[in-house]
Amino acid sequence: MKIAIKYTIKSGRTLTRNLPAQFTVCEECRGKGSHLVEGMRGAVYTWEDFAEDPEFQTDYFGGAYDVPCETCRGERLVTVPEREVLTRSEARFLDMVERVQFEREREEAYLEAERRAEMGYRW
Ligand SMILES: [Zn+2]
Repeated sequence: MKIAIKYTIKSGRTLTRNLPAQFTVCEECRGKGSHLVEGMRGAVYTWEDFAEDPEFQTDYFGGAYDVPCETCRGERLVTVPEREVLTRSEARFLDMVERVQFEREREEAYLEAERRAEMGYRW
């Protein structure tokens, strides 16, 4: 099994390499294949909330607000490069892609934190 890893360089050109891959349990949904709908994820509900609205509690735990996992599309498993069998050049390519991804995620998390802070000041 192979997985196509894409990497877009600054000029806008996309490099693609097919790397050996294996299945692993999806981290996003922890192998459930679904997760709470966006907007409810990260929200914290207390037992008091549920006590006030028993129907909501039933729906919540019954998966009524679950949507298919965006990461694995409900497959419960995702394909990841099999690092142990990569050649040196493949490993270098993967390192580069992961580093860029990490930087991007960090930047997004930073912007998100800023947005939240701004919203906090407004009210
Ligand atoms: Zn998933």
